[in-house]
Amino acid sequence: MTHRIVILGGGTGGTLTANRLRKVYDRADAEITVVDQDDRHVYQPGLLFVPFGLTHNEDIIRSRSRQLHDGITSRQCPIDHVDLAANEVHLTDTSVLPYDVLVVATGTRLAPEETDGLLEAWNHTAFTFYTPEGAAALEQAITAFDGGRIVINVVDMPIKCPVAPLEFCFMADWHFQERGIRDRVQLTFVTPLDGAFTKPVAAAQLGGMLEEKGVELVTEFNTGEIDTERKVLVSFDGREEPYDLAVVIPVHMGAEYVGRSEGLGDAMDFVPTDRRTLQSKAAPNVFAIGDATDVPTSKAGSVTHFEGEVLVENIEHFLAGEPLVEGYDGHANCFIETGFHKALLIDFNYETEPLPGHFPAKAGLPLLKDSRLNHLGKLMFQWFYWHALLPGRDIPGIGVTMPTSGKEFSRPA
Ligand SMILES: Cc1cc2nc3c(=O)[nH]c(=O)nc-3n(C[C@H](O)[C@H](O)[C@H](O)COP(=O)(O)OP(=O)(O)OC[C@H]3O[C@@H](n4cnc5c(N)ncnc54)[C@H](O)[C@@H]3O)c2cc1C
Repeated sequence: MTHRIVILGGGTGGTLTANRLRKVYDRADAEITVVDQDDRHVYQPGLLFVPFGLTHNEDIIRSRSRQLHDGITSRQCPIDHVDLAANEVHLTDTSVLPYDVLVVATGTRLAPEETDGLLEAWNHTAFTFYTPEGAAALEQAITAFDGGRIVINVVDMPIKCPVAPLEFCFMADWHFQERGIRDRVQLTFVTPLDGAFTKPVAAAQLGGMLEEKGVELVTEFNTGEIDTERKVLVSFDGREEPYDLAVVIPVHMGAEYVGRSEGLGDAMDFVPTDRRTLQSKAAPNVFAIGDATDVPTSKAGSVTHFEGEVLVENIEHFLAGEPLVEGYDGHANCFIETGFHKALLIDFNYETEPLPGHFPAKAGLPLLKDSRLNHLGKLMFQWFYWHALLPGRDIPGIGVTMPTSGKEFSRPA
């Protein structure tokens, strides 16, 4: 019998899942179809560098369909909805894809319309680097900026790559120092969290770095409105943060079609998912991966990569009628670019917060510490993304579960 496996989304998670499944099943055993709305695969970590002219959109965007191995069908069309009862996906061109197993990998969507005034301010006084178009517009604004107050604002959590806004602060500090105008630029990081980051040890370390670099930190600020006329962020409790240039990371939600698919998503259109098996709570034959899920770890490419191995194993178990493995431990890691050709690395899972030490073992990359080695790691990661991670190859020395041997569990950062 040929299994029909339909994968919604051809980004990081959809692509690596399809390629891994193709290696596991012969064409006679499984028909694998990937659906996406466009053919532009963006290497999203590269978006951080676009506003500073350190890379360009054409260097980080490739054809989606060309990342898929032979024997995988690629459909380019927006998804309209999923009919869970009928095991069917409906596309907006009215075609219908029946499935035996469905994988939801449609990531997040940015929802600037959720914040009053943000759409009017978009690309005039408020910018984002979370899309290629936004990052390119922000590059022009940064280049033209000659002094004043730049506010970097996270409207609400969760967001993709929660450290990226901090990286932006560090990069901006470096950029304006290089231009010799840092003394004329005030940088302020405005967050809804009670510290620089979600996890205490890393929050203390990163908060200290903001201070060292002269970046003001404003916490527990829940942005309710962007007043474009006055150029002010207004919080729900009436506090105000004036800006000359705002860099805003808007509200993130799941894909809109999730909301149109009865029983699939939650109120934010994320897919309730078992955090260890990656089986959705909507139906046993529906799995989810990456940013689209509600699992309590970061929305990050590294997470998506680690989840991919467990997900594919569990699809095999499901189709064979076997019990699923509880194999995903929430493992996440992330290089945090800090400017001046340096970066920090964090590595954590559901139970263990980012700690100092080394990764993946005692002789590895320094954790929670600025180093040139980590910066080189961040730069090299782009090559690994296209040539190892997306094609579904294992990265030597980096496993699904969080390594513990290099971590200093007792020493605070
Ligand atoms: C600025 C920035 C920096 C980042 N830096 C890092 C980093 O340093 N390290 C790290 O690990 N992660 C980083 N990330 C996060 C990482 O890129 C994402 O977590 C990862 O790409 C998630 O993969 P995904 O497959 O879940 O979603 P995506 O890769 O976003 O793919 C989702 C796909 O679904 C498609 N889709 C959505 N809706 C529909 C629809 N209705 N119909 C058809 N197709 C649809 C989209 O077109 C898209 O291709 C960063 C992200 C950003 C924005």
